[in-house]
Amino acid sequence: MHSINDMSDNPSSIARLLEQDRQLIWHPYATLIDPPPVLPVKSASGVRLQLADGRELIDGMSSWWCAIHGYNHPVLNEAVNRQLQSMAHVMFGGLTHEPAIQLAEQLVNLTPDGLEKVFYSDSGSVAVEVALKMAVQYWVASGKPEKHKYLTVHGGYHGDTIGAMSVCDPVTGMHTLFNQLIGKQYFADRPRTRFGQDWDPEDMQSFERLLVQHHVHLAAVILEPIVQGAGGMWFYHPEYLVAVRLLCDQYGVLLILDEIATGFGRTGKLFACEHATVVPDILCVGKALTGGYMTLAATLCSAQVANTISEGGKGVFMHGPTFMANPLACAVALANLQLLQSWSWQPRIGQIEHQMREHLAICERYDTVADVRVLGAIGVIEMKTTVDMRRITEAFVRKGVWLRPFGKLVYIMPPYIISDEDLAVLTQAMCEVCKDL
Ligand SMILES: *Cc1c(COP(=O)(O)O)cnc(C)c1O
Repeated sequence: MHSINDMSDNPSSIARLLEQDRQLIWHPYATLIDPPPVLPVKSASGVRLQLADGRELIDGMSSWWCAIHGYNHPVLNEAVNRQLQSMAHVMFGGLTHEPAIQLAEQLVNLTPDGLEKVFYSDSGSVAVEVALKMAVQYWVASGKPEKHKYLTVHGGYHGDTIGAMSVCDPVTGMHTLFNQLIGKQYFADRPRTRFGQDWDPEDMQSFERLLVQHHVHLAAVILEPIVQGAGGMWFYHPEYLVAVRLLCDQYGVLLILDEIATGFGRTGKLFACEHATVVPDILCVGKALTGGYMTLAATLCSAQVANTISEGGKGVFMHGPTFMANPLACAVALANLQLLQSWSWQPRIGQIEHQMREHLAICERYDTVADVRVLGAIGVIEMKTTVDMRRITEAFVRKGVWLRPFGKLVYIMPPYIISDEDLAVLTQAMCEVCKDL
């Protein structure tokens, strides 16, 4: 067998491996008949991906929001290595370990006050399933089993599992395809008022109407705070979230915030809900939690939610993944959160935001471009028409950068440790490619 490390020396073995990849493996949201090309990565360090053929790409994606401190970081490597010496994994039923306990303490300390209990899972989608189930179990335990529906907004993304999918945007979330399978939930209009614009209270109308109409059957509202990610890369006004919290309290509905994409600094605050000083009843984190090293997610909840579930009905929370609180993942997550607190990430995100704003502004003038928006370390160019993913990716690779546009959206969310120079290469590539389309 050839290992991936042999590949750079031997173009024919690269070709052979890629052919095997085509024959054997599904990639995300992909076809197996004439699939688009994929690039073999040999190694990654800092903000650079090293390809098997020797080319190097500056990473604009942080591997989908995860690698906030870049790749191959000595501190994170060391955390994994150290944990590996004692144990890679042990079941979490009836057993516990220090990495899980220390990480839980960190999570409770870092997240907004009021979130006190931690449930570990192995991916963001599962963290969302857990949150949805917590909300329903809370109402069953409270003697209101009729509260089992969810209210959300259009343009959201919460993961690919069945429950999570039911609260994703009905169009981009392919609800027609899975029509018979997924639960029917309620969808308010997407928040219209942008982050940074003057707040328009009219923006609440659709949400409030649905809440008033259906609160008797609603277990929870679920939202991505401030930034809607994979459902449209849209930044909305914090007042929306403030109003949602008030309305949820008024009508007796739990609030779930999904910070899987936004958590751990990406929007310029540690958590995006801090832009609105809103605290949810249930919070989901994932993605950047381990700095992109291992797959790990967590669902935090208030003592009120945890106690109600534990005191009423079944008395236990009905979920328990096999790899729950994997020690390697917890150890590297802990190191990643300590690393984040050890440097001035917040001013750095501010600089990244400023630089992206300045460098991407010229794109607003291009005929091809509908909108440019920047928040924290997220830079988005919305095109007027859907981009040809294959062509645009190739154009970016030729310029030495890694981006993964979807729909009309060309965007970056680079590792926080990126230099000004590398960031300028990313934004220049975006401007040039978007101009030429
Ligand atoms: C990515 C994402 C998820 C799903 O996480 P997975 O780890 O891919 O299952 C859920 N919610 C949001 C907001 C996300 O960005």
